[in-house]
Amino acid sequence: MSENCSQSCGSCGEECADRKVDFSEQPHELSKIKKVIGVVSGKGGVGKSMVTSLMAVSMKRQGYNTAILDADITGPSIPKAFGIKEKAMPSELGLFPITSKTGIEIMSINLLLENDTDPVVWRGPIIANTVKQFWTDVIWGDVDYMFVDMPPGTGDVPLTVFQSLPVDGIIIVTSPQELVSMIVAKAVNMAKMMNVPVIGLVENMSYFECPDCDKKHYLFGESRIEDVAKQYGIDVVAKMPIDSSLAGGCDKGLIELFENNWLDPIIKTMEKSEQADALFIPEFAGQDVPAQTGSQV
Ligand code: ADP
Repeated sequence: MSENCSQSCGSCGEECADRKVDFSEQPHELSKIKKVIGVVSGKGGVGKSMVTSLMAVSMKRQGYNTAILDADITGPSIPKAFGIKEKAMPSELGLFPITSKTGIEIMSINLLLENDTDPVVWRGPIIANTVKQFWTDVIWGDVDYMFVDMPPGTGDVPLTVFQSLPVDGIIIVTSPQELVSMIVAKAVNMAKMMNVPVIGLVENMSYFECPDCDKKHYLFGESRIEDVAKQYGIDVVAKMPIDSSLAGGCDKGLIELFENNWLDPIIKTMEKSEQADALFIPEFAGQDVPAQTGSQV
């Protein structure tokens, strides 16, 4: 390990025995990206894109230059959440991302397709290659935090994407309907294989808060996400309710107007590590991830 190790392997150029993955892909020469945060989930539809968008919006509000690389090529929903209708234009230098209303840089396959409804019926290697090109050929400029909306699951495509992008940390998004313990175990194991720390766990659609009486209703049963997090050595947990105004805002492309504090535990962790110039040091480094129980949580 280097003397000045900041634990931010993704953005570090040091030759280091503790860094197991060799990232061969360099970003565009006009891009200067400080931190890359992957947002992962066990399957589609749990709110991964929602969390990616809200994280980028929140960090932008904190004063950081933020960007979103939409690596969910077969389910790209980021441009819609930000109300982006224009298409990304190539130039001689490379491809420019689209800048959102509040200044977040965004690249997604939907910004390149003629029609948003065109299906992307590509095989895994082509999908992974497209994501790589979003990293290498897009002129991102100066970015403090790039959030990557990863392809769902822990299969071949997300793994290849993981290997080609210098991810500094991941946020795992789950929903209470999932086999949470198993999903978290898989994501933690994948992060461990890549030697990437888990920044935090988000339980989306955790509860519904009654607008009349403010009571929280756990529609899928009482949340046990803290127990799961503890089991896998993850300290930071955030819970997001089912919120129709959030879904509505997203549908209308107004995600940047949405105010909430649900993701504060994760944002605070990131800010703390920013001050320390390091990303969350993985608690599980060098340890075995406990065997998952297979029970539905
Ligand atoms: P994923 O990226 O995991 O496939 P999305 O973020 O696209 O999932 O979310 C799937 C759908 O669920 C979207 O229509 C989104 O607006 C909605 N949604 C996500 N999270 C919430 C929430 N907390 N409350 C209400 N609707 C939500």
